[in-house]
Amino acid sequence: MGTEDQGVEAGDGPVLVPVQINVARPKQPVVARVVESRTVTNGRSNSFVRHFAIDLSGTPLAGTFRPGQAFGVLAPGLDARGRAHNVRLYSTSSPTWGEDGQGAVIATTVKRLIDERKPQRDGDDPEDHSLFLGVCSNYMCDLAVGDEVLVTGPAGKRFVLPERPESHQYLFMATGTGIAPFRGMVLDLLEGPEGPVPGEVHLVMGAPYSTDLLYHDQFLDLAERHGNFHYHQAISREHYQGRWGRYTHHVVDDNADTFADLLRDDRSLIYMCGLSGMEVGMFQCLAANGMADGYIKVPQELADVPPWEWDAETTRKRVRPSKRFLVEVY
Ligand SMILES: Cc1cc2nc3c(=O)[nH]c(=O)nc-3n(C[C@H](O)[C@H](O)[C@H](O)COP(=O)(O)OP(=O)(O)OC[C@H]3O[C@@H](n4cnc5c(N)ncnc54)[C@H](O)[C@@H]3O)c2cc1C
Repeated sequence: MGTEDQGVEAGDGPVLVPVQINVARPKQPVVARVVESRTVTNGRSNSFVRHFAIDLSGTPLAGTFRPGQAFGVLAPGLDARGRAHNVRLYSTSSPTWGEDGQGAVIATTVKRLIDERKPQRDGDDPEDHSLFLGVCSNYMCDLAVGDEVLVTGPAGKRFVLPERPESHQYLFMATGTGIAPFRGMVLDLLEGPEGPVPGEVHLVMGAPYSTDLLYHDQFLDLAERHGNFHYHQAISREHYQGRWGRYTHHVVDDNADTFADLLRDDRSLIYMCGLSGMEVGMFQCLAANGMADGYIKVPQELADVPPWEWDAETTRKRVRPSKRFLVEVY
């Protein structure tokens, strides 16, 4: 069994919490049972996102997941080539103690992939615009409480909290279901058995419409109860809090003084999860506000260009986050 229980030494970055990985591989998945499936958007939204919890009791996966790790789901049936579907990964949105206090029930935040069919490769019919339904996300969202599901994991060891969470301060940036790991991490940091961490914890959640905010009430409640937790929203396609067209990095740019104070502390960490497009704006924002030090490495070819004029392609390919800037985009 390929378990990994060494903390990840990250050079000039934090030592990350030790985790287990690959306790159940795709050839030997465990059978879990769905115990909860509820809509988790903020009112009536155009996207369908569910808080989906499974019970792993009695399986070797019970108690093995840490926030930031993912579990795999094997959807039944065959793909277009007649083979069993590949595993799809879903970040756990639960704290270390799970949804049940024991780590046996873990949740994720799953979004139905729904679209019109578009050509993906040479030979695909460009006129085919029939309904496209993602295999695994729709399978999961269709399941009912009591149904069985085949699960693998844990996956991932580089996007987890530090081993000594109380020694750090945090900026979490999410779009869409990228919020999943941060629900778990924020709960670990604020509501853990050892009491809340002393440092500041900022969460920036980005969504196209305010109805797409996920776990909104839960984060509002946590912010109400914990003075060191700050919950910010960036809404890109509607007026929200008097602003139009805000992406996650705009929250940092608009509150540069607050975030400069936070990020100047060499124990501060940035975590980013969600759409890959998030990175470029944040890289530019850090450089434009003099906050790049310790978080990103700017290549020579961009060093003399004003950050807001950086070419997106070059920025994406050549600017490198440091070990204090942990990124998981998909
Ligand atoms: C580490 C990690 C964590 C993740 N965590 C989460 C999570 O917490 N929540 C979550 O919802 N997802 C998460 N994902 C994404 C998840 O793994 C799946 O990729 C997602 O749910 C889509 O899977 P699916 O089987 O529904 O879609 P699939 O059936 O796999 O369809 C997606 C694929 O179909 C093709 N396609 C897409 N659109 C079209 C179209 N319009 N026409 C034709 N073909 C198209 C593309 O090739 C695309 O890759 C995570 C991914 C990773 C890597």
